[in-house]
Order: sequence, then structure tokens, then C-alpha cells
Amino acid sequence: MSTPLAVANIAANLARLQDRIATAAARAGRSAESVHVVAVSKYQPAAAIAAAVAAGQRRFGENTVQDALSKIPHFAGQGLEWHFIGHLQANKARHIPGNFTWLHSLDSLRLAERVARFAVDAQTIVNALIEVNVARDPHRHGVLPEQVPELLDQVVAAGLSGLMLRGLMAIGPHPASEMEIRSAFAAVRKLQESCVARHALPAFTELSMGMSGDFEPAILEGSTLVRVGTAIFGERPYPVA
Ligand SMILES: *Cc1c(COP(=O)(O)O)cnc(C)c1O
Repeated sequence: MSTPLAVANIAANLARLQDRIATAAARAGRSAESVHVVAVSKYQPAAAIAAAVAAGQRRFGENTVQDALSKIPHFAGQGLEWHFIGHLQANKARHIPGNFTWLHSLDSLRLAERVARFAVDAQTIVNALIEVNVARDPHRHGVLPEQVPELLDQVVAAGLSGLMLRGLMAIGPHPASEMEIRSAFAAVRKLQESCVARHALPAFTELSMGMSGDFEPAILEGSTLVRVGTAIFGERPYPVA
């Protein structure tokens, strides 16, 4: 739990991560400020999140509603930004607005409509990223790259006032060579550019790509939101079944 050692590690890990991000951004000719860290705190105790907050971290990512809702209220009023990064069933959509301001896993019109409806009720707006299954992995969620334009068209046509389309999210192929990883992330960036051209969406600027093992190639290919867990918090203490 929150031993002084673990807390010191989290601060040191965050500092080291920021250094690596700055180096990768410089290599890409980008500013370090153009890359935001979403600290993936899934299955981590609130004390670990508190340590990251004390070290200046503001954006956090969770992948299950149940785990997230047990922790988010502890941090009310501290100005944190919560990102839902896991697969979301439509029947859990009501938990997003009010708890999370970002949804990284939009994969259907039905989910968009439900999240947007609850967002309007809660008088808030959810920033949504369409999840792309760029690795074409049948065990993964998200829509295939060629299905993105159709989903985008549907969501735009629905005119959902509670939902703002902000970009794309992808999980890199694994296992894969550095070159395969980069070309997958590059394909997502090209897809994002084609989405912007298709609908003139001024806010469709974000690319959520890169995790502990592949955030550097993701930054080289334009990632603006890296979702990093293990490199900040260490191995996850999986809940005892
Ligand atoms: C768990 C998770 C991450 C973080 O993975 P690490 O390898 O621990 O950095 C990022 N994105 C998603 C969607 C995840 O589920």
C-alpha cells in the first residue's frame, strides 16, 4: 500500500517518464507539452493515486466502472481528470458522465447515444475517442479501421450535444517489432487525418496511443495521450478473486 518507499517510487517513475516523453517528443520535432500522460491506475489503491497526485499528476485512466467508482469520490474537488479506457457496455453508460470527462473506447452509435443522453441529463459533455482495432485482433475491442468512417458519419449525423468527438484511440500490436508498432500507429494517425478532412471536425485532434511498452514509438507517430500504468505504479496488484 502506501509505504513511503512506494510513494517515492511513484514520484521518481513519473519524473523518469516525463524525461523519456520529452526525449521522444524532441526526436519527433514536437514539444513535450503536446503529449499528455493518462496515468492508468486500474486495480491500484487510492493511496497509489494519491502519491501520483502529490507528484503533480492530474489525468488518470481506469478500465472498469466498479473499480473506478470505488476510488474517484476520494479525489473529489482536487481537479483530477478521469479517463475511461476500458470496454464499456451500453448498460453502464450512465456511470460515465459526472465521473469521467473522457471516454477512450467509443465503438458503436448506440453507446454514443447512451453516453450523450446521460451527459445531457448531468449537464456535462463527455470527450469521446473512437477505439480502432488497428491490430485487427479478434480478441480486442474497437472497430476495424475501415469501419471508422461509417461510425464517425453516424455519430456526427446523430448531432449528440452531450458528446464531443475528440479523436481516435488504439492499442498497438503485441507482440510486434518496433517497425510494426510504428506503422500501426502511423496508420491510426492517417485515419485521424482522414476523419478530420471528411467532417471538418475542429476538435478531433487527439490520438490516444502508447502504453508502458510502446509510448515512445507512439509519440514518434503523433500520440497526444499516452496511457501509462506499469511504468508509473509498478506491477498491478490484481484484486484477489
Ligand atoms: C492497462 C491499460 C494500459 C496501461 O498499460 P501498462 O502496460 O501498464 O502501461 C493502457 N491502455 C489500456 C487500454 C489498458 O487497459
